[in-house]
Amino acid sequence: MTRFDVVVLGGGLVGCAAAYYLAKRGARVRLVEQGDLNREASGRNAGSLHFQLEYRLIRYGDELASQFAQIIPLSLVALEDWRGLEAELQADLEVGMHGGLIVAESETDVALLERRQALQEKWGLGSSLLSASEVRRIAPYLAESVIAAGYFPHEGHANPRLVTPAFARRAEALGVSIQAQTRVTALLRDGAEWVVTTVDRAGQTQDVVAGAVLNAAGAWAGEIGRLVHLHLPIFPVPLSMNVVERAAPLIPHLVQHASQRLTLKQVSSGNILVGGGWPGRFAREGSAMTTQRRAEPVIENVMANLSLAARLVPAIGDLRLLRSWTGITGITTDQMPLLGAVPEAPGLFVAAGGAAFTHGPTYARLISELMLEGRASASIDLYSPARFSHINNFMASV
Ligand SMILES: Cc1cc2nc3c(=O)[nH]c(=O)nc-3n(C[C@H](O)[C@H](O)[C@H](O)COP(=O)(O)OP(=O)(O)OC[C@H]3O[C@@H](n4cnc5c(N)ncnc54)[C@H](O)[C@@H]3O)c2cc1C
Repeated sequence: MTRFDVVVLGGGLVGCAAAYYLAKRGARVRLVEQGDLNREASGRNAGSLHFQLEYRLIRYGDELASQFAQIIPLSLVALEDWRGLEAELQADLEVGMHGGLIVAESETDVALLERRQALQEKWGLGSSLLSASEVRRIAPYLAESVIAAGYFPHEGHANPRLVTPAFARRAEALGVSIQAQTRVTALLRDGAEWVVTTVDRAGQTQDVVAGAVLNAAGAWAGEIGRLVHLHLPIFPVPLSMNVVERAAPLIPHLVQHASQRLTLKQVSSGNILVGGGWPGRFAREGSAMTTQRRAEPVIENVMANLSLAARLVPAIGDLRLLRSWTGITGITTDQMPLLGAVPEAPGLFVAAGGAAFTHGPTYARLISELMLEGRASASIDLYSPARFSHINNFMASV
């Protein structure tokens, strides 16, 4: 039987980046992807590099916001990783980090900005609050309705269609064996090793042996958990995105809203990407939802998302919508990533959930250190799957 040090499950950003960092540390790695590389969330997202707390992390009251703010230490590591990523991968990833604004249009919004600012200060993220005139000075394209903004000078974006392929190319150059169109169907422990069973498009089954397995299956990471008879509490959600036609350079920042679902940015081609977490609708199998087919955009949500964008940046109102699409991402019950060893299944690791475009390269680098050296260079204890061990109290892993 073929043997690898690590088998990585999933060919999105996290899986491809982990394969790269593992191989860079000398491991023999196979990566298995059921479809094609970068075809799911990693290639379909908004490309925002957001280090301030997103709206979804701040909207559920002080107690939860304080808990969710524990993501900031990882964001600070991710910020440094993104600064060096194009050099690391020797590739143009269209990284632009020219600052991010979270805008307020009401006193309630300002109160949310103040809560966010206090949490960000507490965790060492150097953001600031801008008055209406300060906002107008650095972002004259914003509407008069904007009365304040939270500002962090290093937020930005990169091109999701470039990042995963760049990691995959570099991983292959280091000897990683990548098998696309190949699905993992079983994971069995055999002494100190794992036997990973895969099936390719032609129906060919193959078993490989690995010292360790990394579950990087994104929204499907919970399904991988079920293969080892464990619950990994990560839930698939269908989000939609929109792109409008090209315009002359107008918006250098990543723009978000303090109390509503919005991210918008102008990418290097001049197109404006508009998103922010508006839901799409899962495809159905019978009456149940399925994650095995594409989710559909919901027209009312697309309209609401674009109207909000045009309200904040009036110049967008004159531009035509080119395309709307969806992607399925995974969220955990506490909004934190699942990042670390699965205590109930020795040799099984997971890196999934959260805002893993921004954090994905960092999950990958840190998990590769943990897997090969027993310790990550930045603490990831807060994100360990061990925090959900109580859910597996009655489960016997394979
Ligand atoms: C519309 C949208 C917008 C977003 N915007 C942002 C943003 O602006 N900034 C940000 O930081 N994050 C954003 N996200 C989240 C981000 O895209 C994801 O967190 C990230 O891409 C997850 O990467 P991943 O590699 O874990 O998962 P994925 O890219 O989903 O990859 C997982 C892979 O595992 C494969 N797989 C599953 N099961 C199996 C199996 N049994 N065998 C083999 N392979 C399997 C899947 O086919 C898939 O390719 C957004 C997400 C969406 C959907």
